[in-house]
Amino acid sequence: MDEAAPEADGRPSPDKPSPDKPSPDTASPDKPGPNKPGEAAPPPEKQLSACRLALTEEIAIAPSIPDIRGPGACGGGDLVRLEAIVLPDKRKVAVKPAAILRCTMASAIADWVRTDMVPLATSLGSTITDLDNFDSFECRGRNRVVGAMLSEHGKANALDVRALKLANGQSIGLTDRTISRDVRERVLHSVCSRFSTVLGPGSDWYHEDHIHLDLAQRRNDYRICQWNVWDPLPQIAPLLPAERPEEAPPREVAAKPEGKSEGKSEAKSEGAKDEADDQESAKPAAPVDKPAAHAGKSKPTTKKRR
Ligand SMILES: [Zn+2]
Repeated sequence: MDEAAPEADGRPSPDKPSPDKPSPDTASPDKPGPNKPGEAAPPPEKQLSACRLALTEEIAIAPSIPDIRGPGACGGGDLVRLEAIVLPDKRKVAVKPAAILRCTMASAIADWVRTDMVPLATSLGSTITDLDNFDSFECRGRNRVVGAMLSEHGKANALDVRALKLANGQSIGLTDRTISRDVRERVLHSVCSRFSTVLGPGSDWYHEDHIHLDLAQRRNDYRICQWNVWDPLPQIAPLLPAERPEEAPPREVAAKPEGKSEGKSEAKSEGAKDEADDQESAKPAAPVDKPAAHAGKSKPTTKKRR
């Protein structure tokens, strides 16, 4: 924006004839002049990529959109707006909302749904109607951390998927513990064999409610597949202790109910040491007294991430 402004200001406006020199064209302003002065020539026809040529309307409704350049390193070329995936039987899976992706990523998504997710839905006795798109192109750092390495989302090379919706009304929430473990594992194995990055629950705090897929290129084709398919019921104790009630007695008193009555006479130094230990051990739990500060540290303010 800032860079374009001086050019726009300084450019002479050949479109506007000066008032004292009426040109013959002004007699018919509505007529679409074939050689309007000042009108930029149409850009030369771009060579279509192999991906673009292959991603036909038999496979996906994915019109090309103009390249995105910046800000910074964001953007990319050969972009499409993936609106729907066309299944082999011509039915469509709507991508909601439509996703801005590089052609190669859109093609990978279409192939994934057509080849692996259709049989999965069939085994559940239904067909897929919608792909729940949580996020596609967005210029930002990883996990929305400002200054972090540019996310693949900033290169239109990533898609966050929350669910696949079926014609029978069922929704396969990919991180939904109530969805059969077998179904979620089949999705996991499918995406991890197809995408170079898969991040889901258990990878970090940002992917508990969706699955991140991208085609990041790394040295030696290194791939990341981090998605813990949680059991329907958590089998581990909650990580955070229950909140300490305000009316609870001070920690030292609660920890040593008998300490006050005995021990004073015989082991004064022992008791003093114990008390020091107790305070030491109480420290890690201290944030429980400040739930706001604690929550701020462990929970992301926003769920969307990488
Ligand atoms: Zn993501």
